[in-house]
Amino acid sequence: MMARAAAAGVSGVVVPGVVEAQWPRLRALAQTYGWRFGVGTHPQALPESRAVPEDLDGADAIGECGLDGPTPVPMEEQERVLAAHLALARDTGLPLILHCFRAHDRMMRLLRRFAPLRGVMHSYSGGPELVDGYVALGLHLSFAGPVTWENAKKPINALRRVPRDRLLAETDAPDQCPRPHRGRSEPAFVVHVIEAMERLRGETLRDQLTENAASLGWGPR
Ligand SMILES: [Zn+2]
Repeated sequence: MMARAAAAGVSGVVVPGVVEAQWPRLRALAQTYGWRFGVGTHPQALPESRAVPEDLDGADAIGECGLDGPTPVPMEEQERVLAAHLALARDTGLPLILHCFRAHDRMMRLLRRFAPLRGVMHSYSGGPELVDGYVALGLHLSFAGPVTWENAKKPINALRRVPRDRLLAETDAPDQCPRPHRGRSEPAFVVHVIEAMERLRGETLRDQLTENAASLGWGPR
């Protein structure tokens, strides 16, 4: 999979940590393959573990952490765990990998308490009207497979609203597979996301995206 990514021109990968039990193995794999990696507890993992990382050895990011509307864990509890991650990012200076799905009002309110922030709203799912607010907090916005899908108006309108120097591209692999592929996504497919972003914005973005990632400490190893 990594050989296919390299052949496609992918020069660096950032892998989020999503649940405590997985952090040590992710750290080992990141060392083996030269990945950047994060440590965090994803809101969808909260029924299983509510851990906030302590051992940040080698980590390039705090996350993935955030709020998830459909997850059956009370929002107050999700906010408590997220706030601990935000405090950790503030104290360490590490950039955040943030997840937000159907909880943007609460997200924005909580993030404001910790601004200015550094990091990414990953696979941005909010509307174009919220983009300026996230940018003002200091965040980058990252786009995934949905910008390549036929009927995805919302992410496309949001994509057009983000300043060039705050954009990132991702696969969210193995989810959100970009067209023309179907099924399981993988890092090599990010080229299709970038091509769609360039077409929809009418500009070349490739080098800019690498530069934007490097500004968060996620440049190629
Ligand atoms: Zn996510």
